[in-house]
Amino acid sequence: MLGEIGINTFWDFLNYFPRKYIDRSTIKSIGALVEGEDTTIVGEILDTKAEGLSWKKSRFVVYVSDYSGHVLKLIWFYGTAYLKEKFKIGDIIAAHGKVTMFGYEPTMTHPEIDVIKTRDRESENNQNELATVSASDYDLFNAGGIVGFYSTSEKMKQIGLTSKSIRYLMKRLLDEVEKEIPNIFSLEIQAQENLISFAEAYRLIHFPLSQQTLIDAKRTLKWTELFLLQFMFALRYRNQKKKESMFKFVCKQGNDSFEDKLKSVIPYKLTQAQQRAVSEINENMGAGTPMNRLLQGDVGSGKTIVAIHAMMRAVDNGTQCVLMAPTEILATQHFIVIKKLLDQYDLKSALVVGKQTKKLKQEIITGIENGSTQIVVGTHAVLESNVLFHKLGLVIIDEQHRFGVLQRKALQDKALSPHLLIMTATPIPRTLSMTLYGDLDVSVLNEYPTNRKKVITKVLFESERNKVYENIRQEVAKGRQVYVVYPLVEESEKIDLAAAVQEYERLKVEVFPEFTLGLIHVCTTVIEVGIDIPNASIIVIEHAERFGISQLHQLRGRVGRGEEQSYAYLIYCGHISVESKERLNAIESTIDGFKLAEIDFKLRGAGNILGTEQAGRVDALKIANLYEDRELLESARDAAFRLSKEDPQLRTEQNRELRKMYIKFFGRMSELINVG
Ligand code: ADP
Ligand code: MG
Repeated sequence: MLGEIGINTFWDFLNYFPRKYIDRSTIKSIGALVEGEDTTIVGEILDTKAEGLSWKKSRFVVYVSDYSGHVLKLIWFYGTAYLKEKFKIGDIIAAHGKVTMFGYEPTMTHPEIDVIKTRDRESENNQNELATVSASDYDLFNAGGIVGFYSTSEKMKQIGLTSKSIRYLMKRLLDEVEKEIPNIFSLEIQAQENLISFAEAYRLIHFPLSQQTLIDAKRTLKWTELFLLQFMFALRYRNQKKKESMFKFVCKQGNDSFEDKLKSVIPYKLTQAQQRAVSEINENMGAGTPMNRLLQGDVGSGKTIVAIHAMMRAVDNGTQCVLMAPTEILATQHFIVIKKLLDQYDLKSALVVGKQTKKLKQEIITGIENGSTQIVVGTHAVLESNVLFHKLGLVIIDEQHRFGVLQRKALQDKALSPHLLIMTATPIPRTLSMTLYGDLDVSVLNEYPTNRKKVITKVLFESERNKVYENIRQEVAKGRQVYVVYPLVEESEKIDLAAAVQEYERLKVEVFPEFTLGLIHVCTTVIEVGIDIPNASIIVIEHAERFGISQLHQLRGRVGRGEEQSYAYLIYCGHISVESKERLNAIESTIDGFKLAEIDFKLRGAGNILGTEQAGRVDALKIANLYEDRELLESARDAAFRLSKEDPQLRTEQNRELRKMYIKFFGRMSELINVG
């Protein structure tokens, strides 16, 4: 029966944790409520009412009473239809919220509600029994002071499972299996990390004895979950480091060295962060094992030149390298940068993109295959099976989050364990990065090139648009360039496109007849991923409310790349939601991509800020929360990496149960099986 709802083993059931808890010790009698306090009451619904005539003023009111005989009024200003269905006279509910006194009449507005007991709507017999709240209703709060509430899906309800019956079954199950729940961590780790026993943790998360025991139980289970995940990363990391690489790059100096040539032609000095990244990369590529490194750096932090350094070292060591970018514009741009820097020397590079003539492509492919072409830059077109390398030593993927796992792997598979550098401009909070890229080495460019000025950002209402046009005129007069961006949402692509074209015409004819304007149809996505035009000093984003935080940040990153002061104008239209406003304000308040990523994370959660593929890994976490549990994650990761050194196969007696749990957790996929 439980199989229908995905519960197959007793572990599945034990891992069905309460959604929330009510602390009985904080429940107050309605008669004793006072103005302004935040509290919980438990009572019976006496009456429900939809009040008010016009939709604007309508509200839904529930009257609740408890054994004190006093009545509490609960008020909602929306959701009447839904609430009407949800609350029935005779139901026992817990209401949590802030108390306001109107004379002697206590009220709560928009309280949180838990339905504790629904009146048996079929059986009339019950009516008497429920006419008043009896002492036995309060016995629902058995097992100590804090009671867990379980969410119940429609399916669960169909098979008769309520929060209460889950609690009952859970208690019986625990009584039976508690003794069989092993301690999976050695006593040493338990002591070091302040963990309680595993059996106790399961007992207490379902039936806490006090707030402190609940905290302890949660902490132990969260830590365990994070540990298991990080242990997998630790093993993968170890396995990577054990592989041998055919390419052990050394530093070549002198007249023939492209690395030296590059250094002599770069028109600026690398930032310290860039220098650090370059030397971390070089260390990896010289170690005799394949590099697996993520280069994380906010828009404009200068990742490209770091990548070019790595490429020169590869070339100096007699191998080829490939740089794959997600769009043709971006690939072309990288290609031009490399050419511009090094064309005066004898470096052979090639661009591989979709739209090339057969003849040209054949020529390029031949050069790559016979090894005369040293550097290949391209879109996913480089993945095609007819692109074969002579001796590929380094694979670089730009804006890697735009590619799928399989595409990344396909490129790596073009050679036997080449060095791999993946780059991303999507700043993600450190906890997320540890969960997503836990098996990679990471370099972070946490510093901008120094000649940058902060982009001045303004959020404006559409009626203020004229101010923007003025500034545009001034900047263009100085010889600068300007982007104007419109959103394009797939579902209404045609309408959006038409609107963009119309606006383009308006700007061209009415507003700026004196300037040259260009229209790129797919401009949002193109501009977003890394176009580098240092001369551009203004970006105007129309309908800014329709973009997400990271998109806005990426778009803004298109300006402020030169030495001039740049401006970003976020124009919103019509009435926008509180969340949209919060988003725009965040962008206005900081240009720090990592700070913005944290805000985004907080506003929308991990699942929404990552692609689905990546989100899957985060969603797999049942109890740990990457935002709240950052510190636990750090300590679990440290412990996992430590243990992976001491006992990688978990073969010692004290790690026996951990080994079993690990395999249960990851199944056949577990890296333990692969550890030689
Ligand atoms: P991103 O990290 O977003 O890919 P880019 O590599 O496109 O950034 O670099 C952005 C701009 O900054 C480019 O015009 C590049 O030439 C310039 N740049 C990179 N590093 C430095 C530096 N150390 N000093 C000055 N300008 C730099
Ligand atoms: Mg870039």
